[in-house]
Amino acid sequence: MKPYSSLKSILAEFFPLHRTLASDDQDKTLEIVGSYMPASSNYTVETYAPLTPVWTWKVPERYVVHEAYLEIEARAEQGRSGGERIVDFKDNPLHIVSYSLPVDAVLTWEELQPHLYFNEKRPNAVPWIFKYYERDWGFCLSKKAFDGLPHDRRYHAVIRSEFIVDPKQGFKVASALVHPQGGPNPNAGEMIIQAHTCHPMQANDDGAGVVSAIELARRLVEKPLPAGSMSIRFWFGPETIGTIAYLAHNESLIPNLRGGIFLEMTGNQNKIAWHHTRQHDHLLDRITNYQLRNIEHDERDFAAAPANDERVINGPGVNVPCISLNRWPYEEYHTTDDNLDILHEDMLLGAADIAEQIVRIYASNYIPKRTFRGPVFLSGNGLWVDWRDNWDLNRAIEKIMMRFEGRHSVFDIAEQVGLDYWMVREYVERFRAKGFIVPLPIPSVAETS
Ligand SMILES: [Zn+2]
Repeated sequence: MKPYSSLKSILAEFFPLHRTLASDDQDKTLEIVGSYMPASSNYTVETYAPLTPVWTWKVPERYVVHEAYLEIEARAEQGRSGGERIVDFKDNPLHIVSYSLPVDAVLTWEELQPHLYFNEKRPNAVPWIFKYYERDWGFCLSKKAFDGLPHDRRYHAVIRSEFIVDPKQGFKVASALVHPQGGPNPNAGEMIIQAHTCHPMQANDDGAGVVSAIELARRLVEKPLPAGSMSIRFWFGPETIGTIAYLAHNESLIPNLRGGIFLEMTGNQNKIAWHHTRQHDHLLDRITNYQLRNIEHDERDFAAAPANDERVINGPGVNVPCISLNRWPYEEYHTTDDNLDILHEDMLLGAADIAEQIVRIYASNYIPKRTFRGPVFLSGNGLWVDWRDNWDLNRAIEKIMMRFEGRHSVFDIAEQVGLDYWMVREYVERFRAKGFIVPLPIPSVAETS
């Protein structure tokens, strides 16, 4: 586990890479991410053979670009080498439509123009366009550059790209697992934290979420969750298809997943927003709401824009409650303006803070089930709370004790008595230490087919 001076410095290492669904730079990115993940988290990269069916999708091919550029064809008197280069993949991977088909053609303006993309609203920025599935080819340039192109010249479009289906050079995703104090508790299951590593040479979407997740993983290793808590699974890979391919190859994980957080666009200067789970009023929604009660934030429905892998984790046939945390909207989205300049260390860390607090409550929560009959002899068992030490808790003792029926989680009880989760948990743990309650896990609501 390499040390780091800032989250932004980690992001700077993989920001410029040509990170697409499957590419050499994507592999490099997963390596860099792994080098910062805690050694104890057993960070593992899995490789899937291209074109393998994964549920209703298929694993994408590896994409290799040997070179790509667009030139204004030289006039006859200039000779062959006199072409004027307009865009070059070497300068920025956003200059080509991601997963462009190969092309080597001389075209009129009318023929070329449908293959050019720019952003009307940000005339100096190059947009990011991808055609992963409806394959075509194209170039992306600034509106300003587009407007300057002559219409009476011919253009030379060159994209030397290759789609590789060799299973050894397959599609990669990475995961890691952080356990609570004392090791995993299989009954408690796991919570999954996701961020995506795709999007060539963009920072906030979603390198930002990746580095916020790295920070979270390190904090959970430095200060582990209480014994008996859920384990926390971290996942990094390309958006949507990455999660689909991963779950399709690891279906046995699904029943163990009790909840998830998708982290993205965590670095721009904007308040945090959270998106509900598909269940909308699940325990995870209530915990998130509780955690954000004193923080200025936006609240949105499940899979509101920008929707990501929560549509997979919390989608049909999986349905693990998953929220999204992000700082959407931001104007630089999906352009070359989404770069390191718009990222703020305190925003990246702030998102990690919020995710951490939600994880700490959600993963440590459990359902206390009494083993006693009659009201507990409190003072005889050292469970009495003196009103002079803690008036609020003293007032709530009876209400808490009446809720050990195996129906309410510790968080529910804290909410019902209007007290801090950690205060109530600590008190319930005292009953547990005496053997007066047993902890039942937060039940899985995952679908298995
Ligand atoms: Zn995006």
